[in-house]
Amino acid sequence: MVAHTERDERTWFECEECGLLFDDRADARQHEGACDAEDPPYLQ
Ligand SMILES: [Zn+2]
Repeated sequence: MVAHTERDERTWFECEECGLLFDDRADARQHEGACDAEDPPYLQ
């Protein structure tokens, strides 16, 4: 999921999988779809 977080008086969109921050919701969602952290190798 993409989480909202406030930092430096701005709203950011955070990938809950890897913690990467985006200033644009669409960018965050696009990243999330390709985020490698969704399927960590150590779980396999
Ligand atoms: Zn991510």
